[in-house]
Amino acid sequence: MNRNDFPILTEQVHHRPLVYLDNAATSQKPQAVVDAIVEAYSHWNSNIHRGVHHLSQVATIHHEEARQAVARFIHADSSDEIIFTKGTTDSLNALAFSFGEAFIHEGDEIIVSGVEHHSNIVPWQMLCERKKAVLRHIPLREDLSLDIEAFRGLLGDRTRLVSVAQVSNVLGIINPIEEIIRLAHERHIPVCIDGAQSVPHMQVDVQALDCDFLAFSGHKMYGPTGIGVLYGKREWLNRLPPHEGGGEMIHHVRWSGTTYNDLPYKFEAGTPNFVGSYALHRAIDYMLSVGWPAIEKHERELTEYCESRLGDIDGVRIYAAGQPKAGVVSFNLYAGNQLIHPFDIGTLLDQQGVAVRTGHHCAEPLIDEMQVPGTVRVSFGLYNDKSDVDAFITALRKAQMMLS
Ligand code: PMP
Repeated sequence: MNRNDFPILTEQVHHRPLVYLDNAATSQKPQAVVDAIVEAYSHWNSNIHRGVHHLSQVATIHHEEARQAVARFIHADSSDEIIFTKGTTDSLNALAFSFGEAFIHEGDEIIVSGVEHHSNIVPWQMLCERKKAVLRHIPLREDLSLDIEAFRGLLGDRTRLVSVAQVSNVLGIINPIEEIIRLAHERHIPVCIDGAQSVPHMQVDVQALDCDFLAFSGHKMYGPTGIGVLYGKREWLNRLPPHEGGGEMIHHVRWSGTTYNDLPYKFEAGTPNFVGSYALHRAIDYMLSVGWPAIEKHERELTEYCESRLGDIDGVRIYAAGQPKAGVVSFNLYAGNQLIHPFDIGTLLDQQGVAVRTGHHCAEPLIDEMQVPGTVRVSFGLYNDKSDVDAFITALRKAQMMLS
């Protein structure tokens, strides 16, 4: 874990050293990833798959090697099951459209959970509107964990798909997806996992989990923006129609009709982000060079340290404190009974060089249920250390003094 590998961390913000604690929104990039982008455009940029010329072949090899690296990273059975997308949102929209076309009819039900990010709600709502289907959600217990007993009750003859986040982007809670998958599979219902906040922080093994689909984003795992992944079991992907039409996704196009390409290309219309996939490959290499045991231990210790230091401050209310978390701590600060608006805290922290996220974190149904206008969210990456937490706590105490 070498901070020097991340050039942006030496930046100053408002004449203060940057303390970057907004990794759940996007992570910073190691030099190897920045270099990969420069290298691609400087040395081998060329459109892939179609070319017989040298550069096109080099670019194609890099793109397909990246696909294999992603498959190994999440332990997919085959790289054919790895579809490159723009990110988690794109992956979930692609799945919602395609799965909806094939399998959703009037009166069918889809289940998400009460902690979902909008990108694991709205595509399903849009599908339900199109097909006159019904979107249900797993309710939360008092401690904001998912109510698995209630989930059991939601599963029924009309349930066609379950889609849940492995880790909540607001609370950092690790959801019991193993149990969710087991219960759904008992009824032969497929499960999609939103891995946007889990894949960067814990080893995700799609075969061990036995999930049917997994969506995640490159930019939250030290890779570039504009590249993400939709994993799907081959049996499912083969049964789904393409969600977009264009080049690459076809075998033959005739006026009489079109035949579609094999996996994974059937789901990759148009010129793919081959520079992004190459740089994502370097990000994966970087994470693996640090190693999962080190990443998971380090981030767990940081999260616990942060919760314990925050707990020492009068008026701090930490959400889902003490529950198993993956690199996220969400809280609010009160002056007596009066909640100090998270935006005010975020602004005063920013003035001291500390970057955190405030607001509803694109999870309005959860924030409504918590009956707050939003939270302050601190989220860690592998390069953060205790000095970042200490700087944040000092800045928070100062903000508290100024606001009270
Ligand atoms: N799901 C979760 C749980 C997230 O945290 C995010 C990003 N905040 C997304 C989906 C959407 O990811 P992206 O914006 O990269 O598509």
